Amino acid sequence: MVLATGGFAAYSSLVDQSHPTLKGIAPVGFRDATRDGLVIARTAGASLLDLDQLEIRPTVSVKGNVPIEEALRARGGILLNKSGKRFTDETGIRDIVSQDILKQSGHAAYLVIDSEIFDADKALQTYVDQGLMKRCGTVAAVAKAIGANSAAVKSTLNRYYRTYDRKFDQDFARYEMRVRLDQGPWYVAAVKPGVLATLGGIRINDRAEVLGSGDTPIPGLYAAGEVTAGVQGGNMMPGNGLTDAVTFGLIAGAKSAAYAGKTGL
Ligand SMILES: Cc1cc2nc3c(=O)[nH]c(=O)nc-3n(C[C@H](O)[C@H](O)[C@H](O)COP(=O)(O)OP(=O)(O)OC[C@H]3O[C@@H](n4cnc5c(N)ncnc54)[C@H](O)[C@@H]3O)c2cc1C
Repeated sequence: MVLATGGFAAYSSLVDQSHPTLKGIAPVGFRDATRDGLVIARTAGASLLDLDQLEIRPTVSVKGNVPIEEALRARGGILLNKSGKRFTDETGIRDIVSQDILKQSGHAAYLVIDSEIFDADKALQTYVDQGLMKRCGTVAAVAKAIGANSAAVKSTLNRYYRTYDRKFDQDFARYEMRVRLDQGPWYVAAVKPGVLATLGGIRINDRAEVLGSGDTPIPGLYAAGEVTAGVQGGNMMPGNGLTDAVTFGLIAGAKSAAYAGKTGL
């Protein structure tokens, strides 16, 4: 038997239990990622590993649940809360940025970029076309998109311009500020953190055999893909999710068929 039921991002009680600091974080992807394979494996005596390792995206669109390009923060985007204020180092590690967003009103934030960032990446127009990102001709329009007081947003942006000029962020110690963010029009996306994938799960070996206690393979039980642990470590590099599923899926299928042929099961 091959277990290939994916991860558990959509099983929120296990996500919350595995990562209490991100309590309330929602899944980005597959709604069937409900940890079924883990339950079957556990019943068969498998050991589980790394359940606290989640692949998080801090900025997923509130509308449509689409991951918004993370590089936009590195390229100079800032995050504002409903009051029009910054609240974190936007270039910080995913867990911290996500935790800080979850602390804001509505557990969400607003990613703000300017034309200098937007015009450099033609693909961003698709966010506008899908209604995930709003074009704002003035700072007052930015405030309106957020639902914040116009003077508050103006004050935040003016402070950020000075921060950029000084190359020193006395508020959140942001190190990298590539643009001054003063080139209108601006673009605003309502975002929230989300779990893209879970990186922990069933322990397997390089033959995709499910391991029980003492690293002993459980006869005839194989697993592949996101349901397993240890392949990705603590961070899924781009492309490695599918590579993992295809590689270990192939191994697990071949080994399982060979086992069935040998045992007549
Ligand atoms: C929005 C998003 C973007 C991503 N982008 C990339 C990317 O660009 N590159 C990359 O490498 N990875 C990406 N990933 C991660 C990648 O999609 C996963 O790592 C990969 O799909 C895992 O494959 P899998 O077959 O293990 O699980 P899944 O693709 O989740 O498939 C599991 C299947 O099992 C089924 N299932 C679950 N429970 C049961 C049950 N009880 N009975 C029967 N069937 C069941 C599910 O319906 C599903 O069809 C992305 C993920 C998301 C959510």
